[in-house]
Amino acid sequence: MTKFGEVADRVYALRYPVLDVTVTLVVGDGAALVVDTLSTPAQAAELADAIRAVARYPLTIVNTHHHFDHSFGNATLAGDGTEIWAHEAAAAHLRERGAHWQRVWYEQCLAMEPELAEDLAEATIRPPDRTVHAEATLDVGGRAVRLCHLGRGHTDGDLVVLVPDADVVVAGDLVEESGPPDFGDAYPLEWPETLAALDRLLTPASVVLPGHGAPVDGAFVRAQHALLTELDWLIRDGHADGAPQRAVAQRSPFGPDQSLVAVARGYAELSGRV
Ligand SMILES: [Zn+2]
Repeated sequence: MTKFGEVADRVYALRYPVLDVTVTLVVGDGAALVVDTLSTPAQAAELADAIRAVARYPLTIVNTHHHFDHSFGNATLAGDGTEIWAHEAAAAHLRERGAHWQRVWYEQCLAMEPELAEDLAEATIRPPDRTVHAEATLDVGGRAVRLCHLGRGHTDGDLVVLVPDADVVVAGDLVEESGPPDFGDAYPLEWPETLAALDRLLTPASVVLPGHGAPVDGAFVRAQHALLTELDWLIRDGHADGAPQRAVAQRSPFGPDQSLVAVARGYAELSGRV
């Protein structure tokens, strides 16, 4: 099993090989907080072992957003009375439309990762029971941890987790290091603004943990912001000119295949259909 490595004072990150998901563990005095819970019961059981190797304390769980690779381990990882925090929109997705999403993701995964698809179809969805509208502060064994919703971006319910005493920011999939941003449920016209707000929370020494991949810094966030801004303007210009979506996606800095859904979602938003 992959292990947690310390990235800042009592803040640990683990990169799970399947989908290269990054999980974060914050350890205080007699309490710990885990950010994101992986895709399946089996993955979450491995994660529970990795957590116990670092700290055997009561856990609080945070989901950065509702996607399966960040939340479907909730039921396995949470015991009785474990609080699970998320943005209110992310919690609503899992509470009200969990079965729908489970079906959608099963079908999406089937072609690429059939084993993962079967396992995530078996997962019990445990929706978050503590929700954040704009901001909340948690006490994790004497450490203040802030949960902030900075606007829509990767989804409509992205939560950023700040550990100010260690200068760590957990960005979820608002920032991706090991692959391009994913636009399937994204708001490509708002994402740049949200990332700019995240950047304003950083110091030159901040460690930023992406949803997938290795830790990054402010320069990486600003580079991703620049590319997302470029795509934002391509979509706005293309829509104004009546350009075909495929032609706009061709010019995207993230490549045509990845960007086609972003262009479609941007066009829909500009036409008032989102
Ligand atoms: Zn993800």
